[in-house]
Amino acid sequence: SNNVAKMEKIESTGSTKYQGRDDRATSEQVLDPRTRLILFKLLSTGFLSKIDGCLSTGKEANVYYALSGSNSTGDVAPLTENEDGEVTIKEYAIKVYKTSILVFKDRDKYVTGEHRWRNGYCKSNPRKMVKVWAEKELRNYKRLWERGVKCPRPVMLKNHVLVMEFLGSSGWPSPRIKDAKLNPKRMREAYVQCMLILRHMFQRANLVHGDFSEYNALWHNNQVYVIDVSQSVESDHPSALDFLRKDISNVNDFFRKYGKLDVMSTRQLFEFVT
Ligand code: ADP
Ligand code: MN
Repeated sequence: SNNVAKMEKIESTGSTKYQGRDDRATSEQVLDPRTRLILFKLLSTGFLSKIDGCLSTGKEANVYYALSGSNSTGDVAPLTENEDGEVTIKEYAIKVYKTSILVFKDRDKYVTGEHRWRNGYCKSNPRKMVKVWAEKELRNYKRLWERGVKCPRPVMLKNHVLVMEFLGSSGWPSPRIKDAKLNPKRMREAYVQCMLILRHMFQRANLVHGDFSEYNALWHNNQVYVIDVSQSVESDHPSALDFLRKDISNVNDFFRKYGKLDVMSTRQLFEFVT
């Protein structure tokens, strides 16, 4: 069928139409049957019209590019209709978590001490664990979105498959801060916005990112957007303030080294954020 062809496409060559896709990765990576089934259902129910290439392959997850379908109502953030009652085509990023056991070992420190996950985190079952991580990322994105912290809008979650707003335009993903090649003026703006994101995450959403750096901040519409929040913890997590200090120093290191900026001391910034 048409949908089988669409699925095979993302497993074979991927698209070369868009910049920033890792086309090699799509040809090397085969989806496991469970993931295939979930993506297949999203296509056949009309939630998606197309999955078109891979945006990123990582240790813990792959991210795919997709277009919304005629029946694309998310349980988190439904699509808005235009005047003609037609749902506008929307681009999605789909994060598919990997079920390999190895990567979950060092994630323990984020979950232990989190009152939200006292129950239900099953260390012996990687499929359950990966589902918990995906749920955690959805909840964190949801909270950030609701509290006005710039991040992709979460759309839908099915097991270990998270659908969210694509940050980019017409298939071109917005770059990470690391790759954005900003001029000095923009660089300074980005620095300030990174610190504001950490502050707003902490003060408005009671969250500490836990892995914030130039890799997990995208430069989108001339603004910094935060991504990759699956490991973010409540601010009352026993290690939250240590994670926050690390986040601040990651940002400082990057802007000092590559932005050639005079950065503030981590102590001052810690005061500012908290
Ligand atoms: P990982 O755990 O693999 O680091 P991330 O959530 O950081 O997962 O996503 C990996 C990469 O995928 C990002 O660096 C970014 O380039 C791309 N990406 C993730 N989410 C989006 C999005 N919503 N829109 C556009 N690109 C995205
Ligand atoms: Mn990341």
